[in-house]
Amino acid sequence: MRQLIVEGLSHLLWPVECPFCKRLGVVACDGCMDLALSEGGTSCLKCMGKYPCPVHADRSLPLYWGAIHEGKVREAVHLLKYGHIKSLGIKMGHALARNLPIEGPIDALVPVPLHIGSVRPFNQAFEIAKGLGQALGVPVFDVLSWREELSCQVSKSPVERRMLPEGVIVFKDDVKVPDGKGIIIVDDVCTTGTTIERCRKALEKKGFQVVGAVVWSLGGSSK
Ligand SMILES: [Zn+2]
Ligand SMILES: [Zn+2]
Repeated sequence: MRQLIVEGLSHLLWPVECPFCKRLGVVACDGCMDLALSEGGTSCLKCMGKYPCPVHADRSLPLYWGAIHEGKVREAVHLLKYGHIKSLGIKMGHALARNLPIEGPIDALVPVPLHIGSVRPFNQAFEIAKGLGQALGVPVFDVLSWREELSCQVSKSPVERRMLPEGVIVFKDDVKVPDGKGIIIVDDVCTTGTTIERCRKALEKKGFQVVGAVVWSLGGSSK
């Protein structure tokens, strides 16, 4: 009873609920997220096939993903993006660190940038990266941006997203990044892997070595 009263009060003060079990007063339970991520895996970033990839061998990178983008897993992304619950992103990052077999050495995490002109108050990929970085003890560098003139041509359809122009994502010239070569790119959802590939190109052009990518969920439409 007392527990219920406390949870009821915290719901009034802090109106959130776990997207998985609907428990009030918490943005998400660790246990619920661990269960949701128990089926996650590692794929080849180039073809979404298995990793290590027999086709792409040395050009392939591991894409660590937490779950398939459906049901409650998808709901969590929507709450973060459209419900603007920033702290959920941090918790999602912590859960990814607990559940994915991410291999090092990793020097930094780089989030996929938010589209120019987006009305969202924050970049959900950055929040997930922050949580992941806290758990792994790795800094987050927000160093990429979309090139304005190319960004407006980007369609939301998964088929057209495969055709994202080269150079659509660039390294922000005004940021200074400490030394450190091994970089993991972070996003909320991965559909075709093309956006992450464009991020990889932008980082490699600056001499960084991308060693993999981490996403909360796989499939579905992303941004
Ligand atoms: Zn829960
Ligand atoms: Zn492959």
